Amino acid sequence: MISVQEAQSIISNNIQPLGFETVSLKNTGNRVLAQDITATFPMPQFDNSAMDGFAVRAVDTEGADKSSPVILKMAGVSSAGTPSDIILKPSQCAQCMTGAAIPDGADAIVIVENTSGFSDAGTVQIFQEANVGEHIRRQGEEIEKSDVLISRGTCITPGEMGTLATFGYEKVSVMIKPKVAIFVTGSELVEPGNKIKIGQIYNSNLYMFAGLAEKSGVEVVMKEVIRDDKDSLRRLLSEALQTCDVIISSGGVSMGRFDYVREVYNKLGVQEYFWKVAQKPGKPLFFGRAESTLIFGLPGNPVSSFICYVEYVHPVMQDLQQKKRDPKHQAILTENFPVESKKHRYLFGRSWIDSKGKLLCSPASKMGSHMLTASLESNCILESPPGKQGLKAGDEITINPLNWRNIE
Ligand code: AMP
Ligand code: MG
Repeated sequence: MISVQEAQSIISNNIQPLGFETVSLKNTGNRVLAQDITATFPMPQFDNSAMDGFAVRAVDTEGADKSSPVILKMAGVSSAGTPSDIILKPSQCAQCMTGAAIPDGADAIVIVENTSGFSDAGTVQIFQEANVGEHIRRQGEEIEKSDVLISRGTCITPGEMGTLATFGYEKVSVMIKPKVAIFVTGSELVEPGNKIKIGQIYNSNLYMFAGLAEKSGVEVVMKEVIRDDKDSLRRLLSEALQTCDVIISSGGVSMGRFDYVREVYNKLGVQEYFWKVAQKPGKPLFFGRAESTLIFGLPGNPVSSFICYVEYVHPVMQDLQQKKRDPKHQAILTENFPVESKKHRYLFGRSWIDSKGKLLCSPASKMGSHMLTASLESNCILESPPGKQGLKAGDEITINPLNWRNIE
């Protein structure tokens, strides 16, 4: 049996990033950037108005107020998308809409609310003095041309997608998504929607894996429930070895009489790197490789499967896509934590920030590896290396946030 650190480093040594491909902007959601994105032009690209109003020479508006308005001559209109070639002369102004180019000669905008309003008349009354630069968005005030906006390795969320569009990127280079097979094994498994008899259970792991795989941003290409039967296992696993970058299975890797998964992987030529890790839950974790396909055999108990996915499989999915791994944090326990003498201990738990800004946490009350409902009250996984005594309230512990749940 190997330690968690050994297991993690063996896995890391077997990861070969998958490379990149070009996709259209509309398909970049949740993908990982394979290129630095730079500003193709300064932002704003040209001086433009921040408000609907009148472009003026500030000096012409001196002394203007409601009781003694300044009257300016209308030189034209500048609207968004239709710039004008007006050059303002003294005592002239131009109607200028939000986003429209500031006409040459103008150095301020008076908002329409402080004037007699838009009309076709040849003059307008200005009710307020303007200051130079007022309501003008200056070229380059947000971003200079060639600035790096988003760096390689960033996951594309709505803000990145909007920014790519802002700078005219239609084709973007992104990391190739891992193609993944998820299998659950067990002759006792029944699909939700069917009646179950005593001795059978509903298959939860396949749904859980599908959700976790989505959170990892990968493409699930095979998804099967397999009976504890060597032939079906051989057929489906060998198909997955041909087509997938990662295979994840649950169940059938323990010491049971019908636990055939490891044997079948071995017969299919998978090189076994380890089987069994000094951890709880998840002791019978299997890891192997066949050519470039990485194979994770997770134990069937739902909590073991969930935690092994988050701790071992998810980081691999990030590495394959050259994405920065999610960070773990240190938090202060508010309750005792049951450390194991020889095994790394993982437990679902909850973390939150107290009124003084301290990160606190506590383990879920349900600790069994079959108790998946513990995940419902959890937003992180707490972990402790083996030790002689348990951790006490007030001690520090490492937490791995489930990044789709908020830390309150
Ligand atoms: P195994 O690792 O195959 O020995 O399974 C350990 C425990 O997890 C057994 O109680 C199984 O019934 C249960 N289990 C295995 N696969 C699943 C699954 N897909 N959904 C829910 N429970 C499962
Ligand atoms: Mg089983």
